[in-house]
Amino acid sequence: MQKTELQLRDDIVQVGRLMFEKGWIAANDGNMSIRLDDERLLATPTGVSKGMLRAEDLIICNLNGVKLCGERACTTEMAMHVLIYAMRPDIRAVVHAHPPVATGFATAGRALNLALLPEVVISLGSVPLADYGLPGTPALTEGMLPYIPKYDAMLMANHGAVAYAEDILQAFYRMETVEHFARITLVAELLGGPKVLPRVEVQKLFDSRERYRVSSRNRFEPGSPMAAEDMPDPSEKIEMTREQLLAVIDEALKVRGVF
Ligand SMILES: [Zn+2]
Repeated sequence: MQKTELQLRDDIVQVGRLMFEKGWIAANDGNMSIRLDDERLLATPTGVSKGMLRAEDLIICNLNGVKLCGERACTTEMAMHVLIYAMRPDIRAVVHAHPPVATGFATAGRALNLALLPEVVISLGSVPLADYGLPGTPALTEGMLPYIPKYDAMLMANHGAVAYAEDILQAFYRMETVEHFARITLVAELLGGPKVLPRVEVQKLFDSRERYRVSSRNRFEPGSPMAAEDMPDPSEKIEMTREQLLAVIDEALKVRGVF
């Protein structure tokens, strides 16, 4: 049975509290929305802690992100929600947060795209990294365009992460998977580096999605996720001229601000 607007308001309040308790949002960070019908979105307002929301704080916007009702102001990140709903008719809820480990990867310029854990391969495939875009401007969403059709969660460079699904709890779970995966990847790196699954095993996991009733548009493609065969071989020998070597060193020193 379809939930009432009141129930959906309560769902957002509950997910906001969970995200706050998990430490994924500081101060007034993060935002959430739910597609109410063909014309309206229920969304969190700006300037409020999402851990202390009241159902009446939520606002209603149209599918262009223009506020229709509610006392508080719309978030400047609404454009991201609107774009996801426009590109993905199957999506009914969007959750955006700044979970610290996943955001650490996003800040280091690293996607979570290695085939390491069966659950992550089955549920998300991989988590790409969208280019940085200034919040509150059209640039925020530009980097997401190539990924929205194919992925259900992504990192946003120097910013955070976004996850979306058929309902808000599922979107929250996807965000939880992203942060959990980021933590495990980080630990694996500290312990000598993750061991990536071979392509044949990744394919088996994708094939098992039907059995687990995982509905996702994400497909197994070269590099998403990266299988063992896609990883650079550390023992591979490369050849370069002295000039090329000096150019690489110069570039590295420049990046580090040495000169
Ligand atoms: Zn944000």
